[in-house]
Amino acid sequence: MTMPNGPHRGSSAPGFETLAIHAGQDPDQVTGAVVPPIYQTSTFKQDGVGGLRGGFEYSRTANPTRSALEECLAALEGSTPAGTRALAFASGMAAEDCLIRTICSPGDRVIIPDDAYGGTYRLFSTVLARWGLDCVPVHLPDVAAVRRCLAERPARILWVETPTNPLLAIADIAALSEAAHEAGAMLVVDNTFASPRLQRPLDLGADVVVHSTTKYLGGHSDVIGGALITSDGDIVERTAFLRNATGGVPGPFDSWLTLRGIRTLAVRMDRHCETAARVAEMLGRHPAVTQVLYPGLPSHPGHAVAAKQMSGFGGMVSFRVRGGEEAALAVCGRTRLFTLGESLGGVESLIEHPGRMTHASVAGSPLEVPADLIRLSVGLEDADDLLDDLNQALC
Ligand SMILES: *Cc1c(COP(=O)(O)O)cnc(C)c1O
Repeated sequence: MTMPNGPHRGSSAPGFETLAIHAGQDPDQVTGAVVPPIYQTSTFKQDGVGGLRGGFEYSRTANPTRSALEECLAALEGSTPAGTRALAFASGMAAEDCLIRTICSPGDRVIIPDDAYGGTYRLFSTVLARWGLDCVPVHLPDVAAVRRCLAERPARILWVETPTNPLLAIADIAALSEAAHEAGAMLVVDNTFASPRLQRPLDLGADVVVHSTTKYLGGHSDVIGGALITSDGDIVERTAFLRNATGGVPGPFDSWLTLRGIRTLAVRMDRHCETAARVAEMLGRHPAVTQVLYPGLPSHPGHAVAAKQMSGFGGMVSFRVRGGEEAALAVCGRTRLFTLGESLGGVESLIEHPGRMTHASVAGSPLEVPADLIRLSVGLEDADDLLDDLNQALC
């Protein structure tokens, strides 16, 4: 795979694969353990009052296993060598909640994608709306529409997902960064679908990157987690304060599992992209399929922007079938290798019906998705087996 947008580091700086395996993961100083230990402890002995050995005091505030994960995440998302910091959370939603309540005040406006992740829409439009947040969905691939919305009324945050879930729309991060900053708004990018292997929003002008590490970063469907990554020291300080005050932290074992997954992120993402491209191509030729949504297809409206800002097109493929909701549900019920289930980004392939599953909470809202839509998380099984499975399910 070509990496036109790969890590922009100096030639002497370590590459992405090296950082994924070594950043924050020096052998243990006491025992030499090659893998950072799970520091399953709530508190740390002090050598006299306030005498902290490794800077650790209480695990809500900081824990060494979590710090290892955070150091690695910062290295993968930030190409500015100094100053990029990551904060890990108990889930992607905990990270989002902490970020909004750090940056926004009641009454502030946040612009979100018109097909935002359902959980993000629910958090912003119900929970945080009661707190006073004003969230407005806009079609982010249309930069002119975003500029009009920003001009209409100032926004505190322009919240971007690209590719989006489940329609895989592509937003131009660099163009939206310019639009946001000209209007005095902050640009936040939920980079869950691409992962830092394929897309580096901070390099493209984003102020903060958000992750559900539950997905590709963890990569094995065995742990829930989230993260915020930014080079803005003030945001780091204030989000760390709120996280410590409210406590949405991941435990040591969850941090360890996530870091274990990250070590193979590069090879996994490369294979996810390769197999997803084959799946998209096959679906495009299938008579039962009316539309394939995959940014790697030249027919996708966001293909040119995706090719500019991503180094691969990812492992998510959505498609629409002839016969409406009934036909879509039938296909979801016939696959044998693609497991019917929510979530994404793991080694195993998943299939789901967004309208009735992940996006049921946006039914009747401006974010409602087509009833004949099916979403695939293409995993790492043998590609021919996956194609065979889809072919038999579509018949
Ligand atoms: C899953 C997901 C989230 C929420 O993360 P959790 O870890 O489930 O809390 C946020 N954004 C996107 C794009 C997601 O896919």
